[in-house]
Amino acid sequence: MTYRTSVAMTAAMEQALVSRLVRDDGQEDLCLAIYRPSTGLSRRSALIREVVSPEPGDRQVHGNATVTGDYVLRAAETAQQDDCGVALLHSHPGASGWQPMSGPDRECEASYANLVRELTGLPLVGMTLASQNRTWSARHWDSGFGRAVDCTHCTNVRVVGDSLRVSWNNEVLPPPSLSDRQSRTLSAWGARCQADLVRRKVLVVGAGSVGLDVFVRLAASGLLRLTVMDFDVVQGANLDRLIGASRRDAHLRRPKIHVAYREATAAATADRYRVEVSDRSICEPEGLRLALDHDLIFSCVDRPWPRAVLNSVAYSDLIPVVDGGIAIDTFESGEMRNATWRSHVVRPGRPCLSCNGQLDLGEVALDRQGLLDDPLYIQGANTRRLPISPNVAPLSVNVAASVLAQYVSFSVSPAGFGDPGPLQYAFSTHGLQIRDDVTRPHCASEAAEGAGDQRACLTGVHEEADRQRGLSKSVCARVRFLRWVDDLTGALGTWLDRVAD
Ligand SMILES: [Zn+2]
Repeated sequence: MTYRTSVAMTAAMEQALVSRLVRDDGQEDLCLAIYRPSTGLSRRSALIREVVSPEPGDRQVHGNATVTGDYVLRAAETAQQDDCGVALLHSHPGASGWQPMSGPDRECEASYANLVRELTGLPLVGMTLASQNRTWSARHWDSGFGRAVDCTHCTNVRVVGDSLRVSWNNEVLPPPSLSDRQSRTLSAWGARCQADLVRRKVLVVGAGSVGLDVFVRLAASGLLRLTVMDFDVVQGANLDRLIGASRRDAHLRRPKIHVAYREATAAATADRYRVEVSDRSICEPEGLRLALDHDLIFSCVDRPWPRAVLNSVAYSDLIPVVDGGIAIDTFESGEMRNATWRSHVVRPGRPCLSCNGQLDLGEVALDRQGLLDDPLYIQGANTRRLPISPNVAPLSVNVAASVLAQYVSFSVSPAGFGDPGPLQYAFSTHGLQIRDDVTRPHCASEAAEGAGDQRACLTGVHEEADRQRGLSKSVCARVRFLRWVDDLTGALGTWLDRVAD
């Protein structure tokens, strides 16, 4: 497995760094910052938390800029007290694009890499700002010792604000060749935007009625690195909403991620894409670590516990989460009264799911104890939750459409507008409202911005996930054989499609 490195920061942090690094006199400048690591299964990100302001004499500016040992030591001490690492940042005035390292850049960073790692226990992160188009480049000085110390160049640098802005290292992850199959997509937002969007690693949590639809559409748009996570299997009761799943899938107790894989690979338009599946829950430690490898997450789950974990990750690990859901109200007679669907990007600068009223923190503990799977408990409990949430396919597609529109606004910024804020659609009156939710005082989720690996631990043993995985694996030999035949036929079909191309 390729181990990748990355850097992420909020737009506010970026602005603070730019004001330090870009000088009116056009000379190069530098500064130090501290970061927290966010460690996934195959990626380590440095989350920039705070600028360590230089004092007089801490750096010399003479066309180029040089840093003093005293400044580095002060930053390392500050970092050590806060379980952080040190980042050394400098600017390349007038430059654009991901910057290769000059000899003096490399020499300077290498000369402090050992010292910083010894003092903080974390690798020095070097960063360069190409000031002309605000492109960042970065590396982690994480290998070798002494004079042989060396760096791993980052795959990307992510800035999370009204939109997600990503600087790409084309040598680590080259832009893909453009395909005729995406010509309509390219004509909508252009080749440069497409080369950026398709390289972002995106996770869809939940392969139900909304998640499956979202996942397939991302594959059709040409995304190269997609993951879907769900532990559930297809059942007869899912078929009225799970478009793409068949009676045979329900009969074979096929895991939903297998259906998602099948449908996404059939729809994919990129030449060399990679679709990964995981039967973990985001509430399990391994599921969370996998999520930390991604640049953006879709939350397509309706349970409080997984939503609480995703809500936390959006702030603590600076991975934006696009979330949505639907609630259908009925009269006592059982007839439909109204339906409401909502969508929002959860990220620093926007209220979290608890503050915007989409997550009842009191229900998280009940969900962890498995009590929300107990119809008797729900009937007797003082909760708004119903044993079965009403939902219909013609309306659930609106949730998928709404979260995908949030994703496009947040990723593409049409006419310079990023994500629109929390949206709510009332079906009975057909009215769309931009909600003005604000952060509540003392919101712990939002206060944990950039906490990285020091985030509050919300994961644990997930008994329902264990049970479902067990059910999926414990099918009889006949069903296993039929699944195998079905998989083989599907794989043959996909291969034939590729050959025909
Ligand atoms: Zn909040």
